[in-house]
Amino acid sequence: MARRRSSKKSNYNYRPIYTFPELHERVCSAVEDDDVEPHWVDRDDDNARDHENEYSTNVMGTFRCENGSCSNDSWGSKKVAIVIRGYEDDGYNAEVFNQRCKACNQLGVLTLHENSYVERVAYRVKKWAGVTVEQPHYGQPGEGPPHERDLCEGCKAGYCLSGGVDDLSFAQMSLGRRHS
Ligand SMILES: [Zn+2]
Ligand SMILES: [Zn+2]
Repeated sequence: MARRRSSKKSNYNYRPIYTFPELHERVCSAVEDDDVEPHWVDRDDDNARDHENEYSTNVMGTFRCENGSCSNDSWGSKKVAIVIRGYEDDGYNAEVFNQRCKACNQLGVLTLHENSYVERVAYRVKKWAGVTVEQPHYGQPGEGPPHERDLCEGCKAGYCLSGGVDDLSFAQMSLGRRHS
């Protein structure tokens, strides 16, 4: 499938927005006990199909800076912006917003915390499907330095719940840095 490049310099296609249709199966598993059978709606269809619902929240992830001349390696965020859209017949999609490196301002390369994504999306899909769901406890927000709006593509796009706080810099958590 994907060709491996030997050089450390990546030819990443830097994206301000990520989607994860490959996690759809996990979302389905998370809601099947409630008899909800969601289907993924491609973003390309956005213009053609009006969504009925839209909800912004946060997921977790880590980002790498792939700029070879930048000293900043990676950082983590518990407030990665995500917007979930609901369509008819339990259709949905979700867009996750990239963040920029605070040292060089280049877009990062996201490694999504998949469980947080599946949890949030499944919760929202159930809610929209009319299932009574308890508000899960996502741990407490509110700790950490102010959200860095300039570095957040979600803020730029107007979808980030950033009013509050972020910890773009809980960064130095031990990421088991994988330098090749
Ligand atoms: Zn950088
Ligand atoms: Zn933001």
